[in-house]
Amino acid sequence: MLQPHQPLLEAAVPPQRVPARDQAGPWHSEAVCRRDEAGLFFAPSKEPTAARLSREEAAKRVCARCPVMVECREHALLQPEPYGVWGGLTAAERRVVLARRRRREAELQRAVQVAAAG
Ligand code: SF4
Repeated sequence: MLQPHQPLLEAAVPPQRVPARDQAGPWHSEAVCRRDEAGLFFAPSKEPTAARLSREEAAKRVCARCPVMVECREHALLQPEPYGVWGGLTAAERRVVLARRRRREAELQRAVQVAAAG
């Protein structure tokens, strides 16, 4: 069975950049990107910035019409997937989301501690 991003992974992504597709979960069978002939989701080596931005925007447009975007995004955040566009987010955008989550969790824990002490 094809997995999200499979053709591109086999064609262009070095082994160390292959996402943990085996752990992706059942949602991947509905992934719109199961056949990524255009190579939108992962950067080729030495990709110029303008080309990367354009490719990522095109990948995000594909994600926007994907029925499993929420599941894909959460998978990529939980792994975390270090490369490529997943769930409509680039790797950099996922790092920002994860940092915000960690900050929120820390604030919540502090609030719970203050309430318990108080
Ligand atoms: S949300 Fe995007 S990356 Fe995720 S499965 Fe759908 S098309 Fe692929």
